[in-house]
Amino acid sequence: MKKKARVSPRLQPKTTRSMCPICKKARAPRAENKAFPFCSNRCQMVDLSNWLDGNYKIADDVGEFSDRSAPQAQPDPPTFDE
Ligand SMILES: [Zn+2]
Repeated sequence: MKKKARVSPRLQPKTTRSMCPICKKARAPRAENKAFPFCSNRCQMVDLSNWLDGNYKIADDVGEFSDRSAPQAQPDPPTFDE
């Protein structure tokens, strides 16, 4: 006799399914995403360059930024409030 164990649907941890403001794809949570709030470094660079160019729009030649050894755009180091 087979007793079917009743498996209650596992409640998934609340994942805030947010998306990248640049490519509108799902982005990884901040904890595992250095480029947060973007999905990747590439989108981060796109955003940055958009701002620098003064025309904030989604560039369609994003590929330019892809796997170039672009200088790492590091955000300002965290300031320590004491
Ligand atoms: Zn993105």
